[in-house]
Amino acid sequence: MFNPKRVLIEKEALTYPLGQELYEYFTNKKYNVILLESNRTKGIPGDTKEEKYKQGKSTLVIGVKKSLKFQTCKPSAHYQLPLVTGCIGQCEYCYLNTQLGDKPYTRVYVNIEEILEQAKRYIEQREDEVTIFEGAATSDPLPVESYTHALKKTIEFFGKEKNGRFRFVTKFNNVEDILDVNHNGHTTVRFSINTDRIIKSYEHKTPSFNKRIEAAYKVLNAGYPIGFIIAPVFFYDQWKNEYSMLIKETKNLFPVDKHEKITFEVISHRYTTKAKNRINEVFPKTTLPMNDIERTFKYGQFGYGKYVYNKDEMKEMKTFFKEQLESNFKNSEIKYII
Ligand code: SF4
Repeated sequence: MFNPKRVLIEKEALTYPLGQELYEYFTNKKYNVILLESNRTKGIPGDTKEEKYKQGKSTLVIGVKKSLKFQTCKPSAHYQLPLVTGCIGQCEYCYLNTQLGDKPYTRVYVNIEEILEQAKRYIEQREDEVTIFEGAATSDPLPVESYTHALKKTIEFFGKEKNGRFRFVTKFNNVEDILDVNHNGHTTVRFSINTDRIIKSYEHKTPSFNKRIEAAYKVLNAGYPIGFIIAPVFFYDQWKNEYSMLIKETKNLFPVDKHEKITFEVISHRYTTKAKNRINEVFPKTTLPMNDIERTFKYGQFGYGKYVYNKDEMKEMKTFFKEQLESNFKNSEIKYII
């Protein structure tokens, strides 16, 4: 759970019951609460890029989601569902590093009902087709859940929608708040997992592998469909042993008759030049493998190029994960290995 150093509240958020409630909560608990006249933030200190990053990560902003035009979210869903922006984790490779500016604060929205009404309109536009919404496209929403209950309300909302489905991905383990929600199987919770070595080296301020799979186990037992995203996969000495162990340990925790409710997605490490530059500014001592000459440059679907592992390495990785997952999780679906 997020324990912020400072809480910034937009004045307009106070016109919503949740905004008022959160204002009173943080004020009573003697947090450093700063009222904002608009949605422009202030009061986040920091002189260097590293400091700004750290202070941003310790800041919670409570605001109103103004634009209710949802971004598309291909190929995994139809739309992004904007419940939270930002994340308290400090993963060195995180895709948010290039998206949230110098001070990557976490912003929650108090007009959740309006956001869900908009989701309903999108569902109705597609009439009889199922419309899927992704709740973690620009965030990890779980660390702030106990403040806003945004996931709980969203899961309940989708539980009643015949043609609406919700999914989100997390590295966090505070799942208690969503266990007793009437989800009706319409929400899929995916957990991002990695080897202990990768978690310790690069996924700062996130729960351990064991805590993540224990949380996944609770969520599965609460009847949700779940998924594991093994990502990003790195090639290093012992990578096969360690990823193999990760898959076996996961298997040991989940009884075979539950495997069909589990999906897998596997994503190899990749980076853009912009991301590499930003990572080097914020984590000057990073050991992330980002040597361009060891990679293949590939143009992506969004017009910018990425450095990916070479063809032979990718082939080896795909064969390895396919074999490992198929032998340990016979009844699970592998969505993709890329
Ligand atoms: S937990 Fe996910 S969203 Fe948060 S910093 Fe790590 S990679 Fe980024």
